[in-house]
Amino acid sequence: NVRTEIIAVGSELLLGQIVNSNAQFLSSQLADLGMNVYYHTVVGDNSARLEQAIKIAQDRSNVIIFTGGLGPTKDDLTKETISRTIGKELVFDQEALEYIEQYFVQTKRIMSENNKKQALVLDGANILKNDYGMAPGMALEVDGTIYMLLPGPPKEMKPMFQNYGRTYFQNQLGFQEKITSRVLRYFGIGESQLETDIQDIIDEQVNPTVAPLAGDGEVTLRLTAKHVDENIANQLLNDLEQKINARVGEFFYGYEQTTLAKELTKLLVEKGKTISAAESLTGGMFSEQITALDGASQFLKGSIVCYTNEMKAQVLNVSIDTLAKFGAVSEQCAKEMAEQIRKLAKSDIGISFTGVAGPKPHEGQPVGTVFIGIATQGHETQVYKFHFAGTRNGIRVRTVKYGCHYLVK
Ligand code: ATP
Ligand code: MG
Repeated sequence: NVRTEIIAVGSELLLGQIVNSNAQFLSSQLADLGMNVYYHTVVGDNSARLEQAIKIAQDRSNVIIFTGGLGPTKDDLTKETISRTIGKELVFDQEALEYIEQYFVQTKRIMSENNKKQALVLDGANILKNDYGMAPGMALEVDGTIYMLLPGPPKEMKPMFQNYGRTYFQNQLGFQEKITSRVLRYFGIGESQLETDIQDIIDEQVNPTVAPLAGDGEVTLRLTAKHVDENIANQLLNDLEQKINARVGEFFYGYEQTTLAKELTKLLVEKGKTISAAESLTGGMFSEQITALDGASQFLKGSIVCYTNEMKAQVLNVSIDTLAKFGAVSEQCAKEMAEQIRKLAKSDIGISFTGVAGPKPHEGQPVGTVFIGIATQGHETQVYKFHFAGTRNGIRVRTVKYGCHYLVK
């Protein structure tokens, strides 16, 4: 049974000059680790009163964490007092000493004996590296009680605890933090836009963490939570997901390894809707993807790959006028293709893809010009226009994804 007490050392805390934010930070970290915290103590820079506080803590706690008073000045007396109280000598830590000496050489300053004092550690302690200052932290177990000493400045203390303190407790107390992660998938929003929209969340997150990744016109966010209790880790992920999607939820489409085509398939089955497709530049890629999963017969009526204008006119009944006046790569043609395939197939939804995949322009339209038409009963046919960049295949892949994207929404 872990009974933890946090002792913050510093007269400025008692004088009300600063808030004891270290205790708050540590408490939330310890809660994460599943360690019970029963007491917060604050004591001034006074050796006798600190000693008294330690003795009280020893009676009621078996993990005692100190912050503050590890520095070089006279009022920094945490180490000396603990040393005396628990009967462990202070010895020089060679690595810390070298680090401090090197710092003074580099900055061309004179090192005083006081500075050397920062390299003194309790004999036998595990050293917790200070990546942002000179005084190392330490942790040791004596007679069944763990003592951990951390510096006062939050910018030194926080990373020290996160990077080294947590690991020490995990090893020492023999518990395992479980790492739980979740991938959120977004489409229709660029990576930089999504990152900008949630920058503050990315920056402030400690647990769970958020890592963005982009590729193939999609952006994914990997959320990773660490906690000894998997249920709590999942709850942390739920809360973070909610916070993120309150901002960019309109672009969210699914979890983990799913694809837009899979989500579309699920939705059509769920809603009991049928679909048909008229594909020009995609050459059947859309239909291929939505038939890749079983159950396609429930919703796909059929598709036509109509590459030439003759096929568009003769098989799909796109009007000769439209083709002559606007060309095959046009809003009008996309609209008629979607409406005609829907009529022909007697489906709830008709979707069309027409455009220039390249490498050469077509009918005066530049490479990457794409129209997607979506016809549904009782609604005006929607046509979306794009100017994609990229290779021939990249443009086709992107086109299919956008088709699925609009159908899923
Ligand atoms: P230094 O080497 O800077 O002297 P230290 O480990 O000796 O570090 P203190 O001298 O006790 O730490 O405190 C240094 C500064 O750290 C304080 O002036 C204050 O700004 C901050 N600090 C100390 N304790 C806390 C605390 N409990 N909560 C928040 N900030 C604190
Ligand atoms: Mg100090």
